[in-house]
Amino acid sequence: MALTEDLAALLGPKGWLTEGLEAWQTDWLKMQSHLPLGVARPENTEQVSAVMRLAHAAGVPVTPQGGNTSLCAGAVPGAPGHVILSLSRMNRIGAVDPLDFTVTVEAGAVLASVHQAVAEHDLIFPMHLGAEGSAQIGGLIATNAGGSHALRYGMMQDLVLGLEVVLPDGRVWNGLRPLVKDNAGYQLRRLFCGSEGTLGVVTRAALRLFPAPVSRASALLTVADFDALVRLGGQLRRDLGEFMSALEFFSSTGLELALRHVSGVSCPLQTRGSAYLLVELSTAAPSLHLDAMLEAALGEAFEAGLILDGTVAANEAQRVAMWRLREEMPEGQRLEGAQVKHDIAVPVASLGEYITRMAPQLNAVLPGVRINPFGHLGDGNIHYNLSPPDGRRDFGDAKAALSQLIYQEAEAAGGSFAAEHGLGRSKVSFADQLRSPEERELMRTLKQAVDPQGLLNPGVLTGSADPQE
Ligand SMILES: Cc1cc2nc3c(=O)[nH]c(=O)nc-3n(C[C@H](O)[C@H](O)[C@H](O)COP(=O)(O)OP(=O)(O)OC[C@H]3O[C@@H](n4cnc5c(N)ncnc54)[C@H](O)[C@@H]3O)c2cc1C
Repeated sequence: MALTEDLAALLGPKGWLTEGLEAWQTDWLKMQSHLPLGVARPENTEQVSAVMRLAHAAGVPVTPQGGNTSLCAGAVPGAPGHVILSLSRMNRIGAVDPLDFTVTVEAGAVLASVHQAVAEHDLIFPMHLGAEGSAQIGGLIATNAGGSHALRYGMMQDLVLGLEVVLPDGRVWNGLRPLVKDNAGYQLRRLFCGSEGTLGVVTRAALRLFPAPVSRASALLTVADFDALVRLGGQLRRDLGEFMSALEFFSSTGLELALRHVSGVSCPLQTRGSAYLLVELSTAAPSLHLDAMLEAALGEAFEAGLILDGTVAANEAQRVAMWRLREEMPEGQRLEGAQVKHDIAVPVASLGEYITRMAPQLNAVLPGVRINPFGHLGDGNIHYNLSPPDGRRDFGDAKAALSQLIYQEAEAAGGSFAAEHGLGRSKVSFADQLRSPEERELMRTLKQAVDPQGLLNPGVLTGSADPQE
């Protein structure tokens, strides 16, 4: 095929791969795997542009790929014969600007390496998630990732100031202005945040940085039920204000699975409640005493009867151990066996009511189903994951009905069936069913305007068909 020869000539043997593609073509959760035409690994924006121009002329679909950690099969093709466009060789991190508090990086820079690079300047890039050793800046932007610090610093859309994007026909939009204020029309940079590789290929980004905290205070608390969890979270947010950098929760089910399966994990609390809260404060101001502030706020919450038991991290090792417990929630459940993952959001005030109300409804569909809700209390984001009943290896034929119920009820509660992972390929049908025709049509109109041939990541987000099918 002429396209293969053209791409081989353009990119050379390191930049155009046609063998051993299993890891590139298969998504993280192994839901999809289709043999691509090849994997293009350009070294710079000019090469990305040339790849897009050639694919566009040949009418061959292209799937942009970062670290391939998408949890909804967004970064792999939905049919054979596509080009996978990997940004992994474009991983340069530019100079940090300590006065603007910005850094400009290439899209293939891995999140953990951005953390390291800016730490040398006593600055942070405050995006944190379990996949930070693999996820890349381009993928994080394209999914508008959230993570555990969104409560204080926002999602990717709040952390990206400027963007460079290669459009489906190969043209380059240079919007790489490192500005907070730039109201010269539609907010194009925001449009690409969460576009999941369907509108353009992000090649570079100007990122917002913040002063590195010089002190932190963390506590692990347990409460009687999810209503108490929500009330406690609200009270602590009011008392601790802008110093709160994370407010993470998990359940007794999740704790039990993590303690059972993950080595080196332990819970420092003597009392076992229904729900657990990890609270963290941080500040870059050396004169503030966060431990005292946290202890005062916790004292009031104890007196109000909101907390059953709790402990404050006395040192960095204890703080890290608390975070490990929270971060191993998915791993404990994975090691238990079959699972169904859901990434939903509900208004924070409804989170306790939603979790409590859903248990009997889900049990009516599959008696004994084990519910492992955990996530980000501050923004109502629940990873509402399920395991089969004790002693059973699978969900039988109940899986679809369980997901349907969880998504439908989240939407009915004024929430979202897709909080921070995006739609990818696996959630498009739910979007068509649960969101209004007007909302879906507007998205398809945007897609049609930017990518009239439907060549960028067909099947993802808008669900438009593969043009080759
Ligand atoms: C263990 C684990 C924990 C996770 N925790 C979180 C979490 O807390 N919060 C959260 O939000 N997500 C989380 N995720 C999901 C995932 O890590 C994020 O969605 C992440 O942003 C994906 O980055 P990536 O580089 O791997 O992108 P990929 O998976 O490679 O791609 C994701 C999407 O972006 C598109 N894309 C990739 N690069 C580009 C580019 N340069 N230009 C245009 N489009 C592009 C792809 O086509 C695809 O649609 C987690 C995943 C795992 C496996």
